[in-house]
Amino acid sequence: MTTPTNDIIIAGGGLAGLVQAIALAHEDIPSTIVEKGTHELHQQRGFDGRTSFLSLGNKILLKKWDVWKDMKPHAEPIKDIRIVDGDSPLFLHYDHEDVGVNEMGYIIENFYFRNALIKAVQENPLITVLENMSVEKADADSHFTTLTLSNGEQLKGKLLIVAEGRNSTLREKAGITVRKHDYEQTAIICALAHEKNHENIAIEKFLPSGPFAILPMTGGFHSAIVWSERSDLAPHFMAMDDAAFTAAVTERFTDYLGKLTLASPRWQYPLSLSFATRLYGERLALVGDAAHFIHPIAGQGFNQSMKDIAGLSRLLADRRDVGLDMGTEDVLKTYNRERKFDNLKMIAATDGLNRLFSNNLKTAKLARQIGLGLVQKSSTIKKAFMRHAMATKNSA
Ligand SMILES: Cc1cc2nc3c(=O)[nH]c(=O)nc-3n(C[C@H](O)[C@H](O)[C@H](O)COP(=O)(O)OP(=O)(O)OC[C@H]3O[C@@H](n4cnc5c(N)ncnc54)[C@H](O)[C@@H]3O)c2cc1C
Repeated sequence: MTTPTNDIIIAGGGLAGLVQAIALAHEDIPSTIVEKGTHELHQQRGFDGRTSFLSLGNKILLKKWDVWKDMKPHAEPIKDIRIVDGDSPLFLHYDHEDVGVNEMGYIIENFYFRNALIKAVQENPLITVLENMSVEKADADSHFTTLTLSNGEQLKGKLLIVAEGRNSTLREKAGITVRKHDYEQTAIICALAHEKNHENIAIEKFLPSGPFAILPMTGGFHSAIVWSERSDLAPHFMAMDDAAFTAAVTERFTDYLGKLTLASPRWQYPLSLSFATRLYGERLALVGDAAHFIHPIAGQGFNQSMKDIAGLSRLLADRRDVGLDMGTEDVLKTYNRERKFDNLKMIAATDGLNRLFSNNLKTAKLARQIGLGLVQKSSTIKKAFMRHAMATKNSA
């Protein structure tokens, strides 16, 4: 049976699929999300233990889409960012006042981010959600794409937006090649309570096994940790009892915020780089981790995806406004062209930073110290980096 549906069908209701549907609804474009799991499952605290850095530019988008009001109480502003190379006294200090803003971005638990998005989706009459269902197959022709679902039914639409995550199968079935690199690192995630106030400062320490990020959480006395560790060592840290694990974290965190106490379960995420060589197929567009999955070193993965989603939604609205088909190759090629350079820049930056910093080689150490010193001294370079991280308009 082929069910008539909205013109736009989104495969995947993770952060990317949800944001995509909300962005389209803001343009008055109805869409259908097909999600393997359920909202009920995704709304649980145990579903995703991560916190996200959200750029200032994307906060502005979420405000425009009317989602920010539910996120704001749970989002902690970042005032300053410090980049530290191991135990070296040299560090790079990004201060919000240098670029004339009150904050450089926000830290929010994915639990609150996801819940705010699900609420917005559930309240929006332009968005239909099919849960406990997956898209198995997409057959495109010159007028439609026909999707076969896991219950055997078919859905017809003009465009399939694939938001399936980093191991996307629809991307593979569409014949889109993917470049991949395994960092052989695993991100260990947890929250810590500390005695002193973090003063809204985020810290990125570059340690030989990988970057160690300390991210300020709401209230002042909790921070989230993103500890990138060698994948062969991560199981050892994950298996430690709480006291030994807290001691291992304290060794890296140091005691600048006083005594540390573990305040959450621990989580782990294997880290790799993967990016699609093009963001489209026949009546198909890629967004989210299905388009690119990058190292969390700068907390930019989903921030890039939000820029993709905003760009794609605007292009589709322009097509709809002049009565044209929203799924044709020319519009998808434009999407690819408009987003390619910005994405490649971020892929190269995050990959390069991780390679440069995650080692103990003498030459790399020297290069890092010269580099950090130069950037710290040059206010122009510093401001350019900051604007890029904040994803505000004049970031070039
Ligand atoms: C340790 C770590 C820290 C990070 N920190 C940051 C940060 O600070 N800032 C930032 O911007 N980004 C960050 N990121 C990146 C960010 O978390 C991801 O980009 C984001 O979660 C990806 O969401 P997604 O919806 O694309 O994919 P997913 O979360 O993988 O969702 C995909 C969804 O699609 C569904 N699905 C899959 N196949 C089908 C199908 N065929 N049919 C129907 N449904 C399907 C799945 O069930 C799932 O719900 C981090 C990533 C990691 C690993």
